[in-house]
Amino acid sequence: MHIAFIGLGNMGAPMAANLVNAGHQVCVYDLVESAMAALEQKGARRGVSAIDAATGADVVVSMLPAGAHVKALYLGRDGEAGLLDALEGTPLLLDASTISPDDARLVAAEAAKRGCTYLDAPVSGGIGGAQAGTLTFIVGGDAAGFERARPVLEVMGKNLFHAGGSGSGQVAKICNNMLLGILMSGTAEALALGVKNGLDPAVLSDIMNQSSGGNWALNVYNPWPGVMEGSAASRDYQGGFLTDLMAKDLGLAWELALGSRSSVPMGSQARNLFALHSAQGNGGLDFSSIQSLYRAGEPGQD
Ligand code: NAD
Repeated sequence: MHIAFIGLGNMGAPMAANLVNAGHQVCVYDLVESAMAALEQKGARRGVSAIDAATGADVVVSMLPAGAHVKALYLGRDGEAGLLDALEGTPLLLDASTISPDDARLVAAEAAKRGCTYLDAPVSGGIGGAQAGTLTFIVGGDAAGFERARPVLEVMGKNLFHAGGSGSGQVAKICNNMLLGILMSGTAEALALGVKNGLDPAVLSDIMNQSSGGNWALNVYNPWPGVMEGSAASRDYQGGFLTDLMAKDLGLAWELALGSRSSVPMGSQARNLFALHSAQGNGGLDFSSIQSLYRAGEPGQD
């Protein structure tokens, strides 16, 4: 199958590599030259633009930071054509980015006007899941489109969910990430409290892992440096899921809550914590670096 892959960041690069490894003809595009060169070395072709990469593709996969990027890709911006204007065929469009349900529904509606199926297909599972091809895809759109996407999604993911109609994948993903933001900040808070009261963070983590406080942020993505080998915390919070992306997702949760008159006090608290952490210059660090917000004032910490 001919697949265009747009957006080769922390998540997109390993996802595209898995499609290449599965034997698909993959043409990639990213604004960052070195990201394209790395995929070219793995056997992908490189487009000179997103439109070039997507020309002749059966499937287009996008993995971009936010809704503005996704809308610009498909609908165009500032007089520049988007894929929907420029492409002749009717490729299946799969957007794996986390964006607002309204943005996803807008692009899906515009795609439908010209005979294309667009699915919102955000993912969970982090960079580890992207590399291992074990992501969870949470798909919104019609059931026939979901079945059409299945063979491509199965190369990159292990669990595929059809959440419902257009935008539903994003709603489910945003709920999940709001919970993750709450769990990560709560985990960081508990660890800092224990350490300030004389506990070893590894011992405390072990205890809570086996107790009722155990959760994904603690058990799989421990935010305290050195507690878990291979975690973002143990490599100075480089790479991973950026603080700015978590702040964006918590902002999406807040918008969703406003629009549905829902009360999200814990999500609001988490949004403020991550926004503050970002404003202090940590937006480009992994989101588990929220731990350092609780360690301010310790020797060696700001
Ligand atoms: P990233 O910032 O590492 O990568 C985004 C990539 O998009 C970059 O390489 C950037 O150069 C490229 N890009 C931006 N604008 C572009 C354009 N107009 N054309 C082509 N390329 C463009 O982000 P990421 O961590 O890979 O996340 C991507 C999406 O997936 C986000 O919506 C994020 O919220 C979501 N997500 C991330 C994770 C994670 O653990 N990192 C997990 C689940 C979901």
